[in-house]
Amino acid sequence: MSTHDFKLYIDGAFVEAGATFESTDPASGEAWARMPAADAADVDRAVRAAHRALNDSAWAELTATQRGKLLTRLGDLIATNAAELAALETRDTGKIIRETSAQIGYVAEYYRYFGGLADKLEGAHLPVDKADMEAYVRREPIGVVAAVVPWNSQLMLAAVKLGPALAAGCTVVLKASEDGPAPLLAMARLVHEAGFPPGVVNIITGFGEECGRTLTAHPLVARVAFTGGPSTARHVVRNTAENLAYTTLELGGKSPVLVFEDADLDSTANAVIAGIFAASGQSCVAGSRLLVQRSVRDRMLAILAEKARLIRIGNPQDRATEMGPLATGRQLAHIEATVAASIAAGARLVTGGRRPESHPTGNYYEPTILLCAGNEVPCAAEELFGPVLSVIAFDDEEEAVALANDTAFGLASGVFTASLTRAHRMIRRLHAGIVWVNTYRAVSPIVPFGGYGQSGLGREAGAESIRDYTRTKSVWIRTSDEPIADPFVMR
Ligand code: NAD
Repeated sequence: MSTHDFKLYIDGAFVEAGATFESTDPASGEAWARMPAADAADVDRAVRAAHRALNDSAWAELTATQRGKLLTRLGDLIATNAAELAALETRDTGKIIRETSAQIGYVAEYYRYFGGLADKLEGAHLPVDKADMEAYVRREPIGVVAAVVPWNSQLMLAAVKLGPALAAGCTVVLKASEDGPAPLLAMARLVHEAGFPPGVVNIITGFGEECGRTLTAHPLVARVAFTGGPSTARHVVRNTAENLAYTTLELGGKSPVLVFEDADLDSTANAVIAGIFAASGQSCVAGSRLLVQRSVRDRMLAILAEKARLIRIGNPQDRATEMGPLATGRQLAHIEATVAASIAAGARLVTGGRRPESHPTGNYYEPTILLCAGNEVPCAAEELFGPVLSVIAFDDEEEAVALANDTAFGLASGVFTASLTRAHRMIRRLHAGIVWVNTYRAVSPIVPFGGYGQSGLGREAGAESIRDYTRTKSVWIRTSDEPIADPFVMR
């Protein structure tokens, strides 16, 4: 794999873009690579290539089993090159090498899973209510897919789109974020090596307004799979008013973690810490609101504060580092402003709340815990996408559920309790697409992922997700040998 020569991958070729931009290393704040910025003409070329490839016999006539084998091969190549992809993601986004290595190793499993699923996608024979008819339903690829991802966990977020899309027989234009596009642009070499016919997978990057808009509004795009923020999602939905593309949205969250007094507090604290401070809090499922029973609030806060202070902040490329910088200076500025506004609104700073003295350059911010009176405080209300935990106390189950559900989001949630019956009561009542009980952040290619409310539309991963990349064709066959009666002759 060649790494530092970043180009667009369109129609099976590595090509220059209409413009370029510099990518910044979040740990040093210095520009480290020149990236291609796809303009409207580049996007149009990529979509046209995908559209041509969709019906080209090199792809359209492959059996589902053959498509599955290509996906499995891509998974194997990703596994073989995981170290290099992880180093690139760490360099370009600041996500620590421990996390990128572990995640990219697992991304290979997503391609293997969808590779295996390709020839298990079945149509249906229907017991139609007409004696001289057969009816059945075929599942066909929906068409050209525009896959748009943000910078965090981008190989994973690309896998849950490319996997089912290609298994179903679609072709794809994948847009990497303009923040940290290196690993996805590098992955194009592996797509090429896996042997997908030209145009089946195109990988581009560029800015949202030109590249993202042109792609999601393109008349030849039939399906949009978007992951990103809720305000961008609204632009995407407006864009698809042009092409009426079937659209799924994976958006943000303000996920609650409920801790009851009967939970093992030490073990729970480890899950809470991982839930909010992993990836420096830049995770859509970040457990950013800790709802803790009042009787154990102070003990829980003391344990969490001690663990938070011990987190080793440092160079993301260093394996000993436990928390790295934020991906962009923009993120850092937003977090600083929201923490200040939250303190002004009455939140009590328990720990953190500033840039670490040890790392004055780069986008570093200390693991931060704020005690809040309720959900109205800005840090408890807004998705911060940073290492900031808002803690709110509750007295009983009713209050815990009311606080948990008092948000427009509904991506994930966590429940920590020793009581099986309480866990089931909470599972039923929480408004969220994911409920983790006595654990947090578990994901798998086999388990659907997605949210309620403002957290999005549709689900990714899991066997059902492949259906979202198909459309059905209903087939009627007359089985009678009798001539069809003349409709205008009265009998
Ligand atoms: P973002 O919404 O700013 O950008 C996401 C992508 O959309 C980028 O590739 C961007 O270039 C593109 N884009 C921007 N404007 C566009 C437009 N007008 N038309 C089409 N595309 C456009 O998101 P971000 O700040 O990079 O990422 C953080 C957000 O992503 C957070 O809200 C986070 O919760 C969310 N997220 C969700 C999940 C999930 O699976 N639910 C996973 C990771 C991140």
